Amino acid sequence: MVIDCAIIGGGPAGLNAALVLGRARRNVVIFDNNQPRNAVTQESHGFLTRDGVTPDEFRAIAHQEISKYPAVVIRHTRITAVRNHESLFELVADNNEIFQAKTIILATGLKETLPAIEGIHDYYGKCLFGCPYCDGWELKDKPLAIIAEEGHAAFHMARNVWNWSRDLVICTNGHAVLTLEEKEALQRHNIRIVEGSITALVGKMGMLERIVFTTHDEIVCQGGFVVPQLSQASPFGAEFGCDRNAMGGIVTDQFGRSSVKGVYAAGDVCGGMLSQLIVAAAQGCAAAAGVNMDLTQSEFL
Ligand SMILES: Cc1cc2nc3c(=O)[nH]c(=O)nc-3n(C[C@H](O)[C@H](O)[C@H](O)COP(=O)(O)OP(=O)(O)OC[C@H]3O[C@@H](n4cnc5c(N)ncnc54)[C@H](O)[C@@H]3O)c2cc1C
Repeated sequence: MVIDCAIIGGGPAGLNAALVLGRARRNVVIFDNNQPRNAVTQESHGFLTRDGVTPDEFRAIAHQEISKYPAVVIRHTRITAVRNHESLFELVADNNEIFQAKTIILATGLKETLPAIEGIHDYYGKCLFGCPYCDGWELKDKPLAIIAEEGHAAFHMARNVWNWSRDLVICTNGHAVLTLEEKEALQRHNIRIVEGSITALVGKMGMLERIVFTTHDEIVCQGGFVVPQLSQASPFGAEFGCDRNAMGGIVTDQFGRSSVKGVYAAGDVCGGMLSQLIVAAAQGCAAAAGVNMDLTQSEFL
C-alpha cells in the first residue's frame, strides 16, 4: 500500500500532524524511535490544558487520541534512509522494511550537545534547563547560573533570565567570549561574570548547590540555564537539499511546505526561535493541512 503521508518523528509536531491527517481521512504512518529532545525533563510547561504534564504522559494521551482514527498507524522504529523514487518517497526502516509514501513530513526534532562539564547531565532537566519560558517559573528568584560558552548566547540568555531572577552569574567555562559592551551592560544589572573553567558541579539528587572552578573559587546556586549546541536529529532535510535557515532549520511556508515538492517539515526541525511543544504541535497541524490540500488538489482533476 502507498501511504498518503509518512511522518518521521512522533513528538508533538508529528503527532499533531497525524491527528489532523487522520481526521482528514488520510492513510498515515508515524515512524518514531522515541528519543524526544525533552526526554530528560520531569515536567513540561506552557501547553494550555497540559501544564506540568510529564513527557511520557503527554505522548500517552496523544497516542490514545490518535488511536480513534484507524487510518493512522504508529511504528516504533527508526527510519534510516529516505529517497525519491518515481514520484514517490521510499523509506527504509532499521529492520530494512521498506515503505512507500506520496508525501513525507519531517518532524524529527533537534539534538542537544551540552558543554563538556563533568556531571552536567545529572542536573540537566532537574534544575538546569535550556529555556526560561519552559522552566523559568520553577526557578524564579533563586540564585542561578547561566552556563554558556558562546558570548552572544550567554548575554542573550542572561538578559532573558533576569526577568525571572536578579541573582545571576554567567559562567563561560574558560571562554573569554563577552564583549566589553556586554560586560558593562551585565555589570550595570549586577550580573556577575566568571570566565574560568568549571571543575565540578556539586549537589545532591540532581539539585545543584555549588559550582567549583579550576581557580578553586566557588559560587552558590540552586540551578540555572545552559546553552547547548543544537543540531538536526536526522539528516533528511539536508539530504533532500531542502532550503535551510542560518540555524540549519528547514525553511517552510505557512503550510509546512519545504522547497522540495512533497517534503514538509514541522516542529524543532524548522529551527525557529521558540522551541516549544505547543509551537511544534501547531506547526504539525499546519503541515498536515498543507499535505491534505496538495493531495486533494492533485486528486481533484
Ligand atoms: C530539558 C528540556 C525541557 C523542555 N521543556 C519544555 C517545556 O516545559 N515546555 C515546552 O513547551 N517545551 C519544552 N522543551 C522543548 C520541547 O521539548 C521541544 O520544543 C519539542 O519537543 C519539539 O517537538 P518536535 O516534535 O519538533 O520534536 P521532538 O519532541 O524532539 O520529537 C522528535 C521525535 O522524532 C524522533 N526521530 C528523530 N529521528 C528519527 C528517525 N530517523 N526515525 C524515527 N524517529 C525519529 C525522535 O525519536 C523523537 O521522538 C524542552 C526541551 C528540553 C531539552
